[in-house]
Amino acid sequence: MKCEIISVGTELLVGDTLNTNAQYLSRELSLLGIRVIYHTTVGDNPKRLEDVIKIALERSNLVITTGGLGPTQDDLTKEVVADLFGKELIQDEKVKEDLLQYFANREFVMTDNNLKQTFIPEAAEILHNPGGTAPGIMIKEQGKTIILLPGPPREMMGIFEGAVLKLIKKDRNKLVVSRYYNLSDIGESAAEDRLLDLIDVQENPTIATYAKMGEVLIRITANGNDEKVINGLLDKYEAIMIERFGENIFTFSRDSLSEAVGKLLIEKNVTIATAESCTGGLIASQLTEISGISKVFGMGIVSYSNEAKQKILHVSENTLLKFGAVSPETAREMCDNLQKISGADLAVSVTGIAGPEGGSEEKPVGLVYIGLNYKGNTKVTQWHFKGDRKIVQQKTATKVFHLIRKSVVDKGE
Ligand code: AMP
Ligand code: MG
Repeated sequence: MKCEIISVGTELLVGDTLNTNAQYLSRELSLLGIRVIYHTTVGDNPKRLEDVIKIALERSNLVITTGGLGPTQDDLTKEVVADLFGKELIQDEKVKEDLLQYFANREFVMTDNNLKQTFIPEAAEILHNPGGTAPGIMIKEQGKTIILLPGPPREMMGIFEGAVLKLIKKDRNKLVVSRYYNLSDIGESAAEDRLLDLIDVQENPTIATYAKMGEVLIRITANGNDEKVINGLLDKYEAIMIERFGENIFTFSRDSLSEAVGKLLIEKNVTIATAESCTGGLIASQLTEISGISKVFGMGIVSYSNEAKQKILHVSENTLLKFGAVSPETAREMCDNLQKISGADLAVSVTGIAGPEGGSEEKPVGLVYIGLNYKGNTKVTQWHFKGDRKIVQQKTATKVFHLIRKSVVDKGE
């Protein structure tokens, strides 16, 4: 099947918004074995939009658009497509009911222009939007399928992963099963290198790697008609993953490292406290993104200045004068004292130079000390992270989560 993607929105053309929808859809479709042959981006202009849709429908069986389904005047995709197919737009009672409910649940006052989203081209299929107001729409005619999805990435993905995937699977009468392996402490190219022999011959299953700072998510997707056969295939690959990546695998799911670590702490009932200098609360912030974390996380301190390190964490003046704020000695006192103050099972501290200023030959930008006190045992490690201020901070946070996980797992609890 040949497919193409049309991204609609002037904000994409002027560079205000990065076209992540096209990337996401291309990746998902390729994994399903659907060939994406063109990406087109077009502004909110009805004539040009009509032109690109016409061209796309001539050369592809499946056309997916994103954007232009919202309530405002410049959202025109549905109107242009209805016109092109000679279809009336008819108000759908169920969509209207859902829309009214959506606003009622949020206690928002609905403006009238929102009702625009309840008009659907006749004979079109409505694709439920679990996270927003504009549903997706599918029209099938003369061997061609066009699917219209909203622009906000979260809504677009919600419809794709629900209604669209279901339709594609039904259409092809196939089962598709994915498994995930999330790795830390390894770069994407190193991870890919270890998989090259499999990637080179991939057909079924397919392998995709997604890199995030300090994390690499591997997805293995198999398809077929028999669930047992598919799982057999995936089991074989799972054994290979474990053999090749072993300790680097921190979760067999899509959970990020911080999520996986947060869940591990909750599950093992390991209480944690944080004292951060150069990350300014980033670690605490990532912890608090995890629902239920309050069970184990009660204290996160941002001790940015020397004064704060002394007053709140009782780091000694002598240590700060003799070794400096960015030193293993300070990191150690920060986490040891934090442990006493908080009573947590695991106390972690961070002090470093995020840059771009403040570095010296002896203590360059990117130098970070991480202190970790777990069950009475303290370890201080030294790191040199490369990158700008934000990257150094994020890499530090990722390393902290990696070290927390390692401590808890190694203790075998
Ligand atoms: P729309 O459905 O056209 O009203 O789009 C609403 C918002 O979704 C836009 O303002 C963008 O922030 C976002 N958006 C639209 N298209 C894309 C895209 N291709 N990639 C990422 N974000 C998008
Ligand atoms: Mg738009």
